[in-house]
Amino acid sequence: MVVSYPVMEHFYTIQGEGRYTGYPAYFIRLGGCDVGCVWCDVKDSWDADKHPKMSVTELLNEVKKTPSKIVVITGGEPAMHDLSPLVDALKSEGFRAHIETSGAHPISGQLDWVCLSPKKFKAPLKEALALANEFKVVVFHPSDIEWASKFLKDLPIHCELFLQPEWSKAEIVLPLIIDFVKSNPNWKISLQTHKFLNIP
Ligand code: SF4
Repeated sequence: MVVSYPVMEHFYTIQGEGRYTGYPAYFIRLGGCDVGCVWCDVKDSWDADKHPKMSVTELLNEVKKTPSKIVVITGGEPAMHDLSPLVDALKSEGFRAHIETSGAHPISGQLDWVCLSPKKFKAPLKEALALANEFKVVVFHPSDIEWASKFLKDLPIHCELFLQPEWSKAEIVLPLIIDFVKSNPNWKISLQTHKFLNIP
């Protein structure tokens, strides 16, 4: 059976956020999301049916046209799909398979890196939090900083912790994030560096 996924876009760029900031990476943005963040900047991704389907082989062939070593599966909410066939195919060709997810759905596939970015609009599952290598909270409102800390008990001990100002609110929340991280050195700051670099 040919496995395929709704693909909104796929492109080779530089990872702008979180632990792998600055690494070249191939992004596969899958369609479909039921989380509903008010500040979502990829609302076009929400309806999976709007996006053409690509088979695992087609996606793999596109990735192989680049020298990328890392493939980031994002969305939308990529965990709404069974990612095992895609992840298996990527890994069998030697790529690192990363995911960026809200954690609102069970995570499938033997991923090399799980970046879990929880959203207030649909809570992350405990089983998803337990798989996080990286926990990245987008701070839209000052209260989000305190909210982020409530998940610590469900995260693996070596999970890397990031607070990231939402782009349009950075002027208000960044000074608060700086103070918080200086007082709570387990956390780090993530910035959307791709926006400074003017790349996708
Ligand atoms: Fe948008 Fe991501 Fe929130 Fe879905 S989880 S609504 S794609 S920001």
